[in-house]
Amino acid sequence: MISIKIGNNDVSTSVLVINCGSSSIKYALVSERREDRIYGLAENLGSENARIKGITAGGQPLELAIPNANHEQALETLLERLSHYNPQAIGHRVVHGGTLTKAHLLTPDIIQRIREATPLAPLHNPAHLVGIEATMRLFPELPQVAVFDTAFHQTMPAHAYRYAVPKFLFTDHNVRRYGFHGTSHAYVSERGSELAGSLKQGGWLTAHLGNGSSTCAIWNGQSVDTSMGLTPLEGVVMGTRSGDVDPSIHSFLASNLGWDIFKIDKMLNKESGLLGLSNNLSNDMRTLIEASEQGNEDATLAIEVFCYRLAKSLAALSCGLPRIDGLFFTGGIGENSAYIREKTMAYLPHFGFNLDKEKNNTLKRGTEGRIDAGAGPQIWVIPTDEEGRIAKETEHVVEQLSREANAAIA
Ligand code: ADP
Repeated sequence: MISIKIGNNDVSTSVLVINCGSSSIKYALVSERREDRIYGLAENLGSENARIKGITAGGQPLELAIPNANHEQALETLLERLSHYNPQAIGHRVVHGGTLTKAHLLTPDIIQRIREATPLAPLHNPAHLVGIEATMRLFPELPQVAVFDTAFHQTMPAHAYRYAVPKFLFTDHNVRRYGFHGTSHAYVSERGSELAGSLKQGGWLTAHLGNGSSTCAIWNGQSVDTSMGLTPLEGVVMGTRSGDVDPSIHSFLASNLGWDIFKIDKMLNKESGLLGLSNNLSNDMRTLIEASEQGNEDATLAIEVFCYRLAKSLAALSCGLPRIDGLFFTGGIGENSAYIREKTMAYLPHFGFNLDKEKNNTLKRGTEGRIDAGAGPQIWVIPTDEEGRIAKETEHVVEQLSREANAAIA
């Protein structure tokens, strides 16, 4: 790695991690020390209010108006500001990689595979492709790698990833469970099992709880089951997504309310979850906890359903593990809310789980820590680091390629 100066520190450079959404781009320049990270968000792209908000070197806030900028223009502005940090590679977060099992250098073939997975992630993959094409035009000399949310779950056995629907839907149309949040589950389980003294060994459950939420069962470092499925709608209750419902809700709503498939899909993805349960009060857990404290019954029930369904999902996923060594909480809710962790564990007195309420309550926000009482499976809070994990996987792909190139020359 090349050494550069950020603030007063010499640090090694850096992988630029990019996560392109339909109207936003999250970016992070990841170097060896997490404290040196430069990161931010270009948002409202394509509108008058387009802007970049972030943290620059030395932790200074940045806010920059880029009126009417599209993805490519926003990336150009960002990359101009960041190029003197000399990124060695670009890592792209890509939600759906179909059946790709690991991160890949972006070649025409891999870009085509991402395009082919678009029907499975119609909101995400097209936006990623815009970002990929723009950075490839702007930085043709830099190696660019795609890191897939789905890849970590490709180790699931068929009995976990198949749906009980006619076989041709799987063989001819790829209808199966894929799972998402793979970079987070991978990072958290690896880091957590390392802290627990059994790196990538044993059986672990992870609960990634953010605006989108999912659970995962990991055996010896590999995903064996997860709560999300064909799309990120399946599984636990989320901010605006319903999670599991009876699939007959579609025919029920079509027959009785005359709703078409698009209206039902929008309702399940955008108007349900915490938002729907709280009668449109909020999709944000903090707001709901405050409202519940003030006596709002819808907010109280939304929280209860969230915790109960989460515990139920974790108990169900335990079937994928020969043994449970512990549970990791992560994501905005999992990392920050002792209240939600306690409520969830109250529904999970099984398998010997035993939360230490005091440790749970006193764990400082944003820090790693163990919160069980010592007997039974361990319980940990592990702040996730998806950008760090994407950078690491990107570096790994680039190093592997240069080893192969050197071997070919030798
Ligand atoms: P995303 O999935 O968009 O990355 P985050 O992982 O940042 O989202 O999680 C956002 C969620 O975390 C929101 O519901 C927010 O209310 C919740 N959250 C953040 N801090 C707290 C807290 N102290 N208590 C409860 N919930 C919190």
